[in-house]
Amino acid sequence: MNAPLVIVGAGHAGGRAALTLREEGYSGRVMLIGDEPHLPYERPPLSKGLLQGATDLASCSLCDGARLAELGIEHVAGNPVSRLEPAHNRLQLADGQWLAYSGLLLATGGRARRLPQHLPHMLYLRTHDDAMALRAALRPGTRLVVIGGGFIGLEVAATARSMGCEVTVLEAGSRLAGRVLPPIISEALLALHRDHGVDVRLNVTLESIHADAVQLVGGQVLSCDLVVVGIGMQPNLELAAAAGLDVGQGIRVDAQLRTSVANIFAAGDVCEFQLGGVYQRQETWRNAEAQGRHAALSLLGRELPFDALPGFWSDQFDWGLLTVGAMTAQMVTRYLPTGGVLLFYLHGDGHLQGACGWAPGNSVARDIKLCERLIAARIPLTAANLSDPEQSLKHLLRS
Ligand code: FAD
Ligand code: NAP
Repeated sequence: MNAPLVIVGAGHAGGRAALTLREEGYSGRVMLIGDEPHLPYERPPLSKGLLQGATDLASCSLCDGARLAELGIEHVAGNPVSRLEPAHNRLQLADGQWLAYSGLLLATGGRARRLPQHLPHMLYLRTHDDAMALRAALRPGTRLVVIGGGFIGLEVAATARSMGCEVTVLEAGSRLAGRVLPPIISEALLALHRDHGVDVRLNVTLESIHADAVQLVGGQVLSCDLVVVGIGMQPNLELAAAAGLDVGQGIRVDAQLRTSVANIFAAGDVCEFQLGGVYQRQETWRNAEAQGRHAALSLLGRELPFDALPGFWSDQFDWGLLTVGAMTAQMVTRYLPTGGVLLFYLHGDGHLQGACGWAPGNSVARDIKLCERLIAARIPLTAANLSDPEQSLKHLLRS
């Protein structure tokens, strides 16, 4: 009997890959091995609806336990893979058990980057259990200091503020989410948070954290009950590195998501792949979804290049951010009647490469969908027609 296809990491990408194997008709053994005690789930609600108590783990799960069993997907929970031996096509679980595989997918995601200090009121947010611990600590009037003005920091700040907490955000850089977002969106985020009473401080260097306060370099002391640290993600690539696979900032893969070992693939946050000729990781829902599916096809021997467009979203207070494609090249700005903005990234040859929308609710979703189609259609566009709010994107698509 053939050894099973094994997926390490029962998160979003791993779970999606397992389900895709069955959707594609694969009837052999599939094992999905995770270190968390839960069924595969999506993480975006952890900083939003689930943190607020508006939704629960079951509604974030990719599928329920009965469905996994019906599909014959063998889910091993709470038992991480501790060792990988590619030369022998086998791996070892933390409980000592060895498993053989015929093909392997590494979808081990990442973990929250930590500060060297550990105190009981310093919390991080990566998993469902982290979110539940944080939810239990958020009460009206809780004085919360958030370290890091990236996506975790800002989404937690927005949720905690709407739950009645007193929130301060400390960002080391000169603007919010400065590595991934253009200045105009960083400024809009800053204004939104300040309008809602969040005390946002930029260019801040942390000195030390105490049981009831955070001290900044320069001597300022901020009293607090709780600290949430959101200073980035570290990919879980140690298993692959120890097994001798090529790694850079993630597990390196080729166009089919194949690692440096022929029958081992990688997908999701941990995967470092070439996008626009540059090796990079994408830490987004959309990438986990697309690469999870694609890696399953690669495990089944379909030699297709991974070429899905990148993109992500964020919801903060009652505003939504959505991006698609590459946010480089010439930026064209369209101010929207809602008070929002659409940014278009235009290649020198007049083709749209990417877009970013910021507007109340999800009012920009339709425009971003149209931008996705404009990118695919490679229709020549001009800065003049893109910046004009009277020019319908649908019309441009038809032209
Ligand atoms: P994960 O979902 O992290 O899954 C990896 C799994 O592998 C984990 O369960 C991990 O514990 C497990 N694992 C690791 N090592 C081992 C091992 N040795 N053995 C067994 N199991 C192992 N993206 C957006 O686009 N929009 C959003 O609004 C958004 N919100 C987010 C909010 C939060 C709080 C977080 C944390 C992320 C958010 N993201 C968002 C990002 C998105 O959720 C991630 O990009 C996505 O979860 C990555 O999926 P993954 O499968 O690669 O990794
Ligand atoms: P992040 O987006 O990388 O942001 C971390 C922020 O913290 C950066 O602005 C960083 O500034 C700042 N920072 C780093 N060290 C600091 C320090 N000592 N003091 C103050 N600020 C500091 O990471 P994250 O927000 O922690 O998110 C973690 C992961 O979750 C990422 O993979 C992210 O994509 C994902 N996530 C995504 C979403 C979404 O897409 N909507 C939502 C939540 C989480 P510098 O850049 O200047 O270092």
